[in-house]
Amino acid sequence: MTIRNDLAHTIGNTPLIKLRAASEATGCTILGKAEFLNPGQSVKDRAALFMIKDAIARGDLKPGGTIVEGTAGNTGIGLALVGASMGFKTVIVIPETQSQEKKDMLRLAGAQLVEVPAVPYKNPNNYVRYSGRLAAKLAATLPGGAIWANQFDNVANRQSHIETTGPEIWEQTAGKVDGFICAAGSGGTVAGVGMALQPKGVKVGLADPEGAGLFKLYTGNDNPGNSITEGIGQGRITANLEGFTPDFTYRIPDAEALPLVFDLLQNEGLCMGGSTGVNIAGAMRMAREMGPGHTIVTVLCDYGTRYQSKLFNPDFLREKNLPVPTWLDARVDLPA
Ligand code: PMP
Repeated sequence: MTIRNDLAHTIGNTPLIKLRAASEATGCTILGKAEFLNPGQSVKDRAALFMIKDAIARGDLKPGGTIVEGTAGNTGIGLALVGASMGFKTVIVIPETQSQEKKDMLRLAGAQLVEVPAVPYKNPNNYVRYSGRLAAKLAATLPGGAIWANQFDNVANRQSHIETTGPEIWEQTAGKVDGFICAAGSGGTVAGVGMALQPKGVKVGLADPEGAGLFKLYTGNDNPGNSITEGIGQGRITANLEGFTPDFTYRIPDAEALPLVFDLLQNEGLCMGGSTGVNIAGAMRMAREMGPGHTIVTVLCDYGTRYQSKLFNPDFLREKNLPVPTWLDARVDLPA
């Protein structure tokens, strides 16, 4: 199929890219699923499309309707772009701590943004809970109606990975895949791919950033600290995670994940966001635990320009006491 009918048909079927340094360091074949090549430049386009299609099929989302969502940004970008192509408006509730670039992209994509303070889920003003209340109000007042996408507890999210990401990985590797690992935001990716591939004998791992709650829920061990990564780190078993159990769970500090992101850009030309570093670090841990010769797939979640003002900003990194890659500052002296 060379001509795609619309934006929805450009989502998914992303390539698997061999990650050279991670593979060489572990003696395994570590492959990255290039989700940054989706039209919204992240893995969340898949969930956005499935949630919209599901809401249309259930009769909840009608032409001219509005989609409301609480999101760290990427799901909102997917919803806004797919929404634009299908005739829906979007209202996005985002924690104010998320990167300016994602907020700019959301506005560019036509979303109306509501920025809220970053507070834990137990606080009623948490972005997810706030968005649920806002959706209920808008559903009652907007003439075209409104729905709450609710990515965390809407299993149409993980269904996108059960039906597309998982089977794509299986086909692209011709079934020669031993492991899959990624971090969790909603948990849709890890649980959905897990549900597709665990029955085929593939081991599935969870890579959790420091300070995230799932590590303790799955291992019983504390996970102190914090992370500058965005879009990942979950504190509860969301509906998308229900019925899924990881075979391996790792706690990944930023000091381990971020240098992998910097090296990947400098040496392999792949410009990725911070969650991808957590994923690759997790894949390398899993590779070492499983031993050489295995094939392990992880996710290249989103494009790095989305974090230029933070992850790729030497001043920001210094402020957070994180390592600054020398090349980020380095410039060649050009002749006069
Ligand atoms: N990485 C990034 C950059 C994200 O935005 C997200 C989703 N918030 C994830 C990873 C995690 O994906 P999921 O919601 O499927 O767990």
